[in-house]
Amino acid sequence: CGIVGYVGADQAAEFLVDGLRRLEYRGYDSAGVAIHGGNEIAITRSVGRIQALADRLGTPPKGTMGLGHTRWATHGPATEENAHPHLGGEGEVVLAHNGVIENFQVLKDELITKGYAFKSATDSEVIAHLVAEGLKNTPVDPAQPNMRYVTAVQWAIAQLRGTYGLAVAFREKPGLLIAARFGSPLVLGVGRGEYFIASDASPIAGRTDRIVYLADHQIAVLTAEGFTVLHRDSGKVRVNIQPLAEDT
Ligand code: GLU
Repeated sequence: CGIVGYVGADQAAEFLVDGLRRLEYRGYDSAGVAIHGGNEIAITRSVGRIQALADRLGTPPKGTMGLGHTRWATHGPATEENAHPHLGGEGEVVLAHNGVIENFQVLKDELITKGYAFKSATDSEVIAHLVAEGLKNTPVDPAQPNMRYVTAVQWAIAQLRGTYGLAVAFREKPGLLIAARFGSPLVLGVGRGEYFIASDASPIAGRTDRIVYLADHQIAVLTAEGFTVLHRDSGKVRVNIQPLAEDT
């Protein structure tokens, strides 16, 4: 149960895999990464240790944005199909989730009625499809091209009962990473032209010493150009960038 994410100028894979290794102590049964290569998102998942995932990745796919997950299964056994990241819609949304969604069955039934096809037994997959449904219902605003994606995430998480730390990416938006939290920790690392997210500061240490602890109900919107933090139901919030203590 850990999340990592990267957007910047470097290859994402190194931070993601190394970051997942540093989160191993939190416990997990399977893991996965998604790397955005521009047109497509490559997803690699594996049951077992992070080394098994690294072996499967081999020479990792190229891409300067990505997200990763270590899973501690709560809904559905520890299998590759249930490992994160999960796809939403027809693959336009990619999502990793830590936590438990208590009302997932109701949401799942509704989504199935709307035609969404589920590939896993997890509670998490409903969030991915909800974001896809949110996107469908949100028009493009040319003045604020990223806002549509934020609105879709806000719409999705407003329906959730339970806890979540989320990392969300979009097939048609290679340089955009959205994170959200309620009840599961998330830390944001502020680099120069690169931004990190992780469940705790350990993956970020060594890459930047400027961090933001996200609070419950906050959403972070990251691109290589910068980041903003919003409240789930309202607008931008001011956050403190804190120095990362050396012993972290
Ligand atoms: N409830 C989710 C699952 O079982 C996420 C578990 C976790 O936090 O790793 O897939």
